[in-house]
Amino acid sequence: MSQQGYVTAPPYSQSQPRVGGFSAGFGPPNSSLHYGHYGDPNSSHAAAPQPGMSKSTVTLGSSAPLGPLPPGTHQVSQNNFQSGPSAAGQQPHRFQSPLPPNNTGPSYPPGSHQSQPASPNTVSTSCTTLANQLNSMQINSYGPGAIQSSHTSSGHPASFQGPQQLPLTQHQMTLQPGPQIPPPANNFSGLCAQSSLPSMSRQDGMPGSGLPNPNLQQLPGQTPGPGYHPQQANYGLQMAGSQLSYPGAFPGGPAQLSGPPQKKLDPDSIPSPIQVIENDKASRGGQMYATNTRGQVPPLVTTDCLIQDQGHASPRYIRCTTYCFPSSSDMAKQARIPLAAVIQPFAIVPQNETPLYVVNHGETGPIRCNRCKAYMCPFMQFIEGGRRYQCGFCNCINEVPPFFFQHLDHIGRRVDHYERPELSLGSYEYVATLDYCRNNKPPNPPAYIFMIDVSYRNINSGLVKLICDELKTLLDKLPREEEEESSAIRVGFVTYNKVLHFFNVKSNLAQPQMMVVSDVGEVFVPLLDGFLVNFQESRSVVHNLLDQIPEMFADTNESETIFAPVIQAGMEALKAAECAGKLFIFHSSLPTAEAPGKLRNRDDKKLLSTDKEKTLFQPQVNSYESLARDCVANGCCVNLFLFPNQYVDIASLGLVTMYTGGTLYKYNNFQLNSDSPQFLTDLRRDIEKKTGFDAIMRVRTSTGFRATDFFGAMYMNNTTDVEMAAVDCDKAVTVEFKHDDKLNEDSGALIQCAVLYTSVSGQRRLRIHNIGLNCSTQLADVYKTCETDALINFFAKSAFKAILSQPLKVVREILVSQTAHMLACYRKNCASPSTASQLILPDAMKVLPVYMNCLLKSTVLTGRPEIPTDERAYHRQLVMSMGVADTQLFFYPQLLPIHNLDLKSDTVPAAVRCSEERLSEGGAFILANGLSMFLWLGVSTPPELIQGLFNVPSFAHISTEATLLPDLANPYSKKIKSIVEHIQNQKPYTMKLMIVKQREQPEMLFRQFLVEDKSIHGGASYVDFLCCVHKEICQLLN
Ligand SMILES: [Zn+2]
Repeated sequence: MSQQGYVTAPPYSQSQPRVGGFSAGFGPPNSSLHYGHYGDPNSSHAAAPQPGMSKSTVTLGSSAPLGPLPPGTHQVSQNNFQSGPSAAGQQPHRFQSPLPPNNTGPSYPPGSHQSQPASPNTVSTSCTTLANQLNSMQINSYGPGAIQSSHTSSGHPASFQGPQQLPLTQHQMTLQPGPQIPPPANNFSGLCAQSSLPSMSRQDGMPGSGLPNPNLQQLPGQTPGPGYHPQQANYGLQMAGSQLSYPGAFPGGPAQLSGPPQKKLDPDSIPSPIQVIENDKASRGGQMYATNTRGQVPPLVTTDCLIQDQGHASPRYIRCTTYCFPSSSDMAKQARIPLAAVIQPFAIVPQNETPLYVVNHGETGPIRCNRCKAYMCPFMQFIEGGRRYQCGFCNCINEVPPFFFQHLDHIGRRVDHYERPELSLGSYEYVATLDYCRNNKPPNPPAYIFMIDVSYRNINSGLVKLICDELKTLLDKLPREEEEESSAIRVGFVTYNKVLHFFNVKSNLAQPQMMVVSDVGEVFVPLLDGFLVNFQESRSVVHNLLDQIPEMFADTNESETIFAPVIQAGMEALKAAECAGKLFIFHSSLPTAEAPGKLRNRDDKKLLSTDKEKTLFQPQVNSYESLARDCVANGCCVNLFLFPNQYVDIASLGLVTMYTGGTLYKYNNFQLNSDSPQFLTDLRRDIEKKTGFDAIMRVRTSTGFRATDFFGAMYMNNTTDVEMAAVDCDKAVTVEFKHDDKLNEDSGALIQCAVLYTSVSGQRRLRIHNIGLNCSTQLADVYKTCETDALINFFAKSAFKAILSQPLKVVREILVSQTAHMLACYRKNCASPSTASQLILPDAMKVLPVYMNCLLKSTVLTGRPEIPTDERAYHRQLVMSMGVADTQLFFYPQLLPIHNLDLKSDTVPAAVRCSEERLSEGGAFILANGLSMFLWLGVSTPPELIQGLFNVPSFAHISTEATLLPDLANPYSKKIKSIVEHIQNQKPYTMKLMIVKQREQPEMLFRQFLVEDKSIHGGASYVDFLCCVHKEICQLLN
């Protein structure tokens, strides 16, 4: 397997010494480079790049050209530059003072960085505590690799019944150990739980030695401790013996538990993701969120609000795992909270938010710090009457170039502060100069090349004709700059099976011409002139070609295909045309024809759960990796549309797509009738997507910390430059940071992400995103500002990268142990004193366990023979490039009840928790995770709903064949179709709708998405996992 991911000489980038941290992804398993920071903190930190790596001298992406000399040396007069508003044609949006004067305070006024100074060591009002009886010990056998539910745990057969089997009880009920106990005096939001255990469970042979904490040894009647702490919202659930009373737990409640034993945690009483989502919607939804304060936590990704850039990048572009970094590396090691940012540099912003302003300094180019090369931004402090500025990243004092000089006002701010995006906004663009272009030449507009597999199966299934017909209309929708009438993107066409066919579609030809390249060992491009054309000019020849292709190969019986030479050919064509671009490859089978990149079927279920399982996620042959490298070096992005009927080795085929920032689409057993809408919508959306081409991203940080690891659809030749042949609106790169030194609470932790790219019109630009985070010596501040959705994005990507080099079992264990460590550290350092048996979750992380369990149960981390290897490789690849909103939905699907809709309202119904308990025979639900969508119908679904949706009289008449709901002129149909549309809106992949009837076979598939329940593949239920985590926490605390 290839081991050379990041070692070759950079094509147009300064060669840098290879640093340890990066080899972890593809290198051999190496104890010193183990997965992330989770293991022994010392070893992981030792693996990090040494401090002082030349971040300060390397310019964005580049060999020398990207780092122009200090602008000060240019002596450009004021007339030579134009700021945003005055350069017509390049500034689609006028820059106006974004801030009304009355809320224009400095981004972070002195002292404001700790926006909510709460009690320093406790986050008392925000705690969620969970009491948890002997439950936790009944899952002793749970563990990564041997995931079992409590049902099957050895030793306690009678003690614990699955939550599914219990009747749903009211929240208050669950808090009562016995029926005669009144509800607790304080009932906090249903997030806390209390349960008692049947007396028999302990007598059943719960071994004393296995008890995780001493409280369990208490005698009946003893008070285990101040279990209920009114200020802390703790439902002091004692991990207590069976006959334990609850004197401390419920003030005013009877002390003695009597009556029949009650058992188990009520699912309603443990933290609910839905409640967290709905609470955030209620408090922050529909409002304006201004990014004017350093370190403030944005609304959740699931909350709709209007975002106004007032000095920090919108959370649509950057989200962080915590908005307050621990001030020292020791604190960071103690908490083990990953410090990471999820950056989606081209994220779509809604119509009612301001698009990015473009700054043009003419020939001078962007203003940058002389030392660290950071770009002018709100973090630069102007001094000496405005003649110099201090860089917020490296503290270097720089001269202000004369053309950029401006006086300061009475508070030391430039008087033109609000007139310049680069002084007052978190995000903006610069027009780049020739120094930022390949070979110092302005780039050509990008090109799209369509490459269609015309082997027997694709012709026979009608797929080739479908693609050709669709392209005729799609090519009118190629992306263009808003101010331009037509797209500058050129197009080219190739078909292939065992050989390649290039087409000349020059506008002056009467008929397209075909050129066959049969030497696939060394692909060359047989024509330059006439291959890449402007669609508008060559419209009739292109239409002619698209009409002819299906006919041309109608009689083919060629079933073998090549693959790597197809990519090679596309890349060579772009290279010859000196432009960046995208390949759209439509492919169906394992490439078994004799050619470079030939693959064999190496799928082997016997490898599951062995140390070799990881090889299933690695490419089969080395050539794909070097091909990917060449593609990135030439700005060639590969989009892959796969139509497999069987194993096609996605780990190998998808590799180039992954490294080049492309998108992988997969349609299993493609059927023209049922799957065309999904495929065509994906294709259309991909072609129209907002994309940056030939991109290189650099993340700079203020002193004391630094970016150490990167996860995403991208390629890295060195430790700092993130290369993406293309980056589109859906792609996110997750960046992990580590401390070099102590961080200063006053100056905070500043991050600048700069993406150099070529626009659709061929303009070289820089897109800058800045965000400032707080720093604190108090762990409570760090926990208080965590964002669980971003944490899960990080954990998913780091785990999915780690499985290339480590056994899945180890990766799963690390995830569980990291979860326990983070929560134990909080418990130890931040929570009010309470008995060790209480599970206390920080407010900002209270749904971390449920999301973490979803990640652990994902198909990628679950090696089961019934899950196809390709499906796992596919999911792995998709998740690696997802942003926070996409991972949130992917790991915790949306489940919407649609049987009791308010037909007059426009709103989408509130989701319910993903558990079978939430379904009902009389209900109908939509479930979606961003890849799949289901409409589940209970056996007693109201007939009027069935009639309205399907136009049939009863449940029995509903056909589950359809993949779309019919368009019917009635309120049910209209409303539910609009809900489906809303769910699909802005998602990167089109979800095919599956109709599932209760108690019919396909329901099994649907149930896999009920992620709070025990999985049919063996994953733990939420309740069981919570107990498992609690047990680990108890062990850590002891
Ligand atoms: Zn600097």
